[in-house]
Amino acid sequence: MSSESPLLEVRALSKHFARRGGVFGQRKAIFKAVDEVSFSVPRGKTLGLVGESGSGKTTIGKCALRLVEPTAGQILFDGQDITHISGRDLQRRRSDMQMIYQSPAASLNGRMTVGEIIGEPLWLHEKLSGGQRRDRVMELLHVVGLKSEHYYRFPHEFSGGQQQRVGIARALAVKPKLLILDEPTSALDVSVQAQVLNLLHDLQRQFGLSYLFISHDLSVVRYLCDQVALLYLGKVVEIADVETIFTRPKHPYTQALISAIPEPDPDGGREQILLKGDLNLRAPKQGCPFAPRCHAAKLAQCDTVAPPLVEVEPRHQVACHLHPALSSSRL
Ligand code: SF4
Repeated sequence: MSSESPLLEVRALSKHFARRGGVFGQRKAIFKAVDEVSFSVPRGKTLGLVGESGSGKTTIGKCALRLVEPTAGQILFDGQDITHISGRDLQRRRSDMQMIYQSPAASLNGRMTVGEIIGEPLWLHEKLSGGQRRDRVMELLHVVGLKSEHYYRFPHEFSGGQQQRVGIARALAVKPKLLILDEPTSALDVSVQAQVLNLLHDLQRQFGLSYLFISHDLSVVRYLCDQVALLYLGKVVEIADVETIFTRPKHPYTQALISAIPEPDPDGGREQILLKGDLNLRAPKQGCPFAPRCHAAKLAQCDTVAPPLVEVEPRHQVACHLHPALSSSRL
């Protein structure tokens, strides 16, 4: 597989859920948690998926891993279409893609020692003997900044940051190519967050890993990501490289999120754009889904036509009527 081709490619991915409605729950309403989302994660790079809680970002991560079955679309991993694979093929691919969860405590089995937790995938996937397993676990403990003496301890004896390191070591045990990081630092103290982010940064360089980094926190995303996709109600509304997103955000939603990042200098002059309401504001049946919260000078079609995601400059796509597609703006 060419090193130029992306490691993970998601094409027009959708995940819909049926919801019961009506007084007797007899009517089924369709909830589009993810709606025709496309992106790719280049080899050795990080794509950030950013949005508020309920924007569909975790569902996308689970669909990519096939923990949740997509309703439509295609998932390609390392050049292979994995959308419909099953059995051994799926199991093999799953060891190439590992997920790190938001709550390290909840993702570790409290009745197992750290040595058993990290060694379990080595037994399941590689059938290593007891001695070989122990050696690999010791190696992994050191890779993530833990010590040999931690091998025999239980998760509750660790801080949140150390627990997350255990989770990362367990994910690395099967030598994955891609880590799906679902808010991996949001449950940690700010000082510990920085340590875990530094560790992830170092591991990426050391092992050439690719990351799909799911977060609601743009300041964390800026540190770790090469590209960023902003999600709103299951749709990508803006996608570009990280510098473009932070210096030239074009979608009103992105602009509002960036304006809310605390500045080191309170007199820095950036004005905060206050978002009206929250994601629970019902999306209109037609037009732009962001319209009820949009602060920008809206156009007549905002309430009638859903804006498509179009390229507004090279490698920068936006879904907003204020920004026409590159080709039409050149006419
Ligand atoms: Fe706001 Fe209209 Fe753009 Fe939607 S399409 S984000 S309502 S300006």
